[in-house]
This record gives sequence, structure tokens and C-alpha cells, in this order.
Amino acid sequence: MIPGMVAPTAPARVVGIIGDPVAHSLSPRMHTAAFEAAGLDWRYVAFRVPPARLEDAVRGIRALGLAGVNVTTPHKETVIPLLDGVEPAARGAGAVNTIRLEDGVLFGYNTDAPGLLDALTEDGGTALAAARCLILGAGGAGRSAAFALAGAQVKSIMVLNRTLSRAQDVAARVAHAAPACALTAGPLDAATVARAGEDADVIIQATSATLYAAMGGGGGRAAWLQALKPMLRPGMTVLDMVYTPRRTELLAAAADAGATVVDGVSLLVHQGARSFHLWTGLPAPVAAMRRAVDAADRTR
Ligand code: NAP
Repeated sequence: MIPGMVAPTAPARVVGIIGDPVAHSLSPRMHTAAFEAAGLDWRYVAFRVPPARLEDAVRGIRALGLAGVNVTTPHKETVIPLLDGVEPAARGAGAVNTIRLEDGVLFGYNTDAPGLLDALTEDGGTALAAARCLILGAGGAGRSAAFALAGAQVKSIMVLNRTLSRAQDVAARVAHAAPACALTAGPLDAATVARAGEDADVIIQATSATLYAAMGGGGGRAAWLQALKPMLRPGMTVLDMVYTPRRTELLAAAADAGATVVDGVSLLVHQGARSFHLWTGLPAPVAAMRRAVDAADRTR
């Protein structure tokens, strides 16, 4: 060895996130802080995986012996047939956001759903029993939210989506799984969003529209978003899953209207805490994870 050089040592385990895009993700910093706080020599890496490479990437988890990965947009649904097994809740929701490699077997989980309930109810926040819920978006995150809320015995759920058939599919699946909950579906247009917003106690923004707006796309000025703003009021809870920016246009309007606001960072921390536990078997250092995300957010 060259004098003065230190022999490189491999970290004990490697996990990461696969998605496209992933550059905005705060998960690497959050999990790195978690591993440090827990005294684990683990690494968390962001892997940008376009849809055409998903199958190769999933094979790579096993080939490289990763402990697992998080899965983000747009792969949460398409990854399912590539796995060896999927927990019933993730199968029902049709979305996997966490993969664990167990004895060479790739197993899929959904921590978005319980993480959403953790974020909404944290510190005695939102009462979900008998709440009327409005979910905007019917991708993996919207679908998980619908299953999570139905499981929390809410009164009703309306799912609105740009592609109506996807909203109808989510409503039908959840209605089948939770017959006591009233499920409806509709298009994500200004008139429907305004009507639905008027009757909602809990609003979950689960489209990528505001993410793309933050990245220079046009989603943020959407007519449906503008139509929702006058419906925001005290006593309502509004959660925006997008955390780039953390205070989205919707959350800023909700706070101005006196509604309870839950940002995407809370969801990120809680779903991440559950992923951490799945991979390591240890309780997640939630406070350290939140501090890391807060610090990263301040430097952006
Ligand atoms: P996904 O499966 O790709 O679904 C995307 C959703 O956004 C679909 O409902 C899609 O509608 C809708 N959409 C995309 N662009 C739109 C636009 N311009 N106008 C209106 N609707 C639009 O993604 P996902 O996994 O559900 O995630 C959705 C968002 O939540 C992402 O931004 C993700 O980063 C965020 N998220 C955050 C957390 C967290 O921890 N904070 C957790 C999960 C997800 P169509 O069906 O019509 O295409």
C-alpha cells in the first residue's frame, strides 16, 4: 500500500432510494443521520433509475447484496411484479415504497400508509375517526393514503385525479377492502375540487403537480389548486406530500386560512422511520432524522 494511505473499508450495509427524479430527495441525509445516531456503519445512496432500467435495478439489489431500498415515483406500482413477495397491505394498496432483501428474497412493503397516519395524528393532531377526506392524486401515494385513511375508520373518502380511471380504480379497490367507508371518485378539475374541498375535513395533496412546479414545470398554477384555496378553513387539516418546497403554495394558503398544516417532511420522516426499522430491526431515531431534514431544508 502507498505510505500514508488508509485501507478502504466497505460499510457494513448499503441501502438507498430508486426513482426518477431523485436529486431532490432528502432521504439520503435523513437516513445517514439515522445510521449515525444508531451507531450503524451503513450508507444510503440515491440511485436515479429511469423506467426502462427498473428491472435491472431491482436485480441489482440482490446482486450487490444491498439491505434494501426505498422506491419512489414513478416506480411504486411497476416494481411489484419484479419482487418475490409483497406484504398484504402493500399488495392491497398496489404500491411498494420499501424493499428489504431477506435471505436472498426481495420483499416489498408500504410504509407510506402507516407513515401518513403517524404524521396526521402526531402530537394529538388530527382526529380521523368520522373525518370526511379528500385525496388529490391517485398514483402510488394517493392510493396508499386512501387505504391508510380507510383503515383508520374515516367516514368518507373522495379521490380526484387528472386521469379519472385511476381515481375510479383506487375508489373501487378501497371500497372493496373497507365496505364501511363511503368512497367516491372524480376528475381533478377546478369545479370538482372546489365542491369537494367545501365538504372536506382532511385534504391530502398526493399529486406530483406541485413538485414539478417547483422544478420549473407548470403544475403549481393549476386551476384546481387555485379553486381549492377559497375552501380552506379553520378546523380542516391539509397535508401536502410534496416537500420541495417544504411550504408549498397549498400549505401556505392553508396556514393563512387557519387550517392545520402537515408538511411532506413529517410524512417523509415517519415513513422513513418505518423503513429504517424494517431494514435494521431497530427503533428509528426519529428526532435525529427530523433534525437532519430540517437542517438540509434550511440550506436549500
Ligand atoms: P406517481 O405514482 O407517479 O403518481 C403521480 C400522481 O400525480 C398521479 O396521480 C398523477 O396523475 C399526478 N400528476 C402528475 N403530474 C400532474 C399534473 N401536472 N397535474 C395533476 N396531476 C398530476 O407518484 P406518487 O408516488 O403517487 O407520488 C406523488 C407525489 O407525492 C410525488 O411528488 C412524491 O414525491 C410525493 N410523495 C412524498 C412522500 C413523502 O414522504 N413526503 C411520500 C410519497 C410520495 P395521473 O394519474 O393523471 O398521471
